[in-house]
Amino acid sequence: MSIQSNLHKIKSSLPENVTLVAVSKTKPVSDLMEAYNAGQRIFGENKIQEMLEKWEVMPKDIQWHMIGHVQTNKVKFMAPFVSLIHGVDSLKLLQEINKQAIKNNRIIDCLLQIHIADEETKFGFDEEELETLLNATEFQEMKNIRILGLMGMATFTDNQEQIQKEFTHLKSIFDSIQMQKNSTLNLSILSMGMSGDYKLAIECGSTMIRVGSSIFGSR
Ligand SMILES: *Cc1c(COP(=O)(O)O)cnc(C)c1O
Repeated sequence: MSIQSNLHKIKSSLPENVTLVAVSKTKPVSDLMEAYNAGQRIFGENKIQEMLEKWEVMPKDIQWHMIGHVQTNKVKFMAPFVSLIHGVDSLKLLQEINKQAIKNNRIIDCLLQIHIADEETKFGFDEEELETLLNATEFQEMKNIRILGLMGMATFTDNQEQIQKEFTHLKSIFDSIQMQKNSTLNLSILSMGMSGDYKLAIECGSTMIRVGSSIFGSR
């Protein structure tokens, strides 16, 4: 199947409130352009250098999402143009994003990554660390970042029950932040679900899915 027909098939199956991020990491610009010409405007990359190279040569109405782990010293390269950073997992990183946003005279939208998987290797805050962050004065004082929601990745497993449990857990954290009366956050994005599990993620409350191989083929 072509990239165009893959895209159309996925898009037509999505509820209206769910946004599709086309994950184009490792794929050539020609593949991204095929998706662009089919109407796709949101692309996700996991390496800053690769995203920068694609941004330079591609149409400027594309929204570039950084979905990978971000190293603090590389934030400056994407700060002028990045549309949403999904994998924010420390106060230190947020402070650097805020600093670079100020330099570029803009506000940078971010999602906080939450650790939901049963694996040591996946990045993100646990619930206690999240609580600490949200209550930190340094966090509340940053004016050039905007936290739009949460992001998470389920364990890499065939066990649907486990994946569902992890997504449901993330959704409950999302809801509990919404309920906090004193919260100044207004979360609207819950980024969870990839090619193998996005249908389940949507059932569990996802509003943004990150789909790569089901659109562009395997990597
Ligand atoms: C690569 C990647 C995806 C997309 O994975 P597919 O299985 O190809 O859909 C989604 N999210 C993150 C964080 C990724 O790194």
